Amino acid sequence: MKAVYLTGHGGNEVVAIGERPMPVRQAGEVLVRLQAATLNRVDLYMRDSGAGITHSLPQVMGIDGAGLVVEVDEGHPTLQVGDRVLLYPGVTCGHCEFCVRGEEVLCTSMKLLGEHRDGTMAEYICIPARNAVPMPEGWSFEEAAALGVNHLTAWRMLMTQARLKPWETVLVFGIGGGVSLAGLQLAKAMGPRVIVTSREQDKCDRALALGADAAICSRTQDVVKEVMRLTGKRGVDVVFENIGAAVWDSALRSAVRGGRIVTCGATTGDQPGADMRRVFIRQLQIYGSTLGNLAELRDLVRFCAQHDLRPVMDRVYAMDEAHAALDRLASGEQFGKVAVRIV
Ligand SMILES: [Zn+2]
Repeated sequence: MKAVYLTGHGGNEVVAIGERPMPVRQAGEVLVRLQAATLNRVDLYMRDSGAGITHSLPQVMGIDGAGLVVEVDEGHPTLQVGDRVLLYPGVTCGHCEFCVRGEEVLCTSMKLLGEHRDGTMAEYICIPARNAVPMPEGWSFEEAAALGVNHLTAWRMLMTQARLKPWETVLVFGIGGGVSLAGLQLAKAMGPRVIVTSREQDKCDRALALGADAAICSRTQDVVKEVMRLTGKRGVDVVFENIGAAVWDSALRSAVRGGRIVTCGATTGDQPGADMRRVFIRQLQIYGSTLGNLAELRDLVRFCAQHDLRPVMDRVYAMDEAHAALDRLASGEQFGKVAVRIV
């Protein structure tokens, strides 16, 4: 089968496009003919380093994906051949303390597609049947694929960790990236007021067109000063951030007393200064979050179908253009998801 796979680490020359062995389905698994995958920051991390992530080479890239069920156990209670499904990217043990608690995202032996095992940028994948979730009606495979990582991450950050309320205000840093846009879309659909930031004015303008209530261009404006102006000197209830060191101080100073800060990434550095006095005197709550549980993905899919809330797509590339797709993500110029169509 045709696949995009890693042969080593360091730059685009280690990314190969070619033949990989066809996976063989085991009992309890589905064989899915993938139609689309979208790119995530971790694809760049796997390409460039992969340090700290147990894996072997060559390995098929891609963490999220959607496609058609082509083989499944006979008499499976919910899945049939021909079903359009998106994939939950974590294969978990089902037995550890965290799996038993329903928090399989914390599973001690979690294997993620495209990180610890072959991923979704391939014509076929075998995966436990529970990981295949029916797609919303009428959606493209690219749109459905995008829910499995970015939207799931944003959903857990807002719903499970920060427990966002409809009357609150949320500040989303770095609009344009997949998780931040998912945060904007989900938060708006839940009801709250949403303020976004970006270094680029045109990304601010596009976020406003998507429903953001206010946008702060951090290249020309002081984020904290603007947040205070927009909130009557109060600060926001929830700060949603995945940028790390470059914005951490602003994140702490933008939150209302007792406010929540939820973070799922640190692309600009993971060792910011920590104003501990501000954290305890103002009783700020800081949540770390990554990905989400299968049950959260199922809730998210229902929510998105109900609101016809589709991920914002940047560009769709053919499989043969995988190098250009990765470059597009690395450039930081994208607005929305960079997708790869699998044919
Ligand atoms: Zn487990």
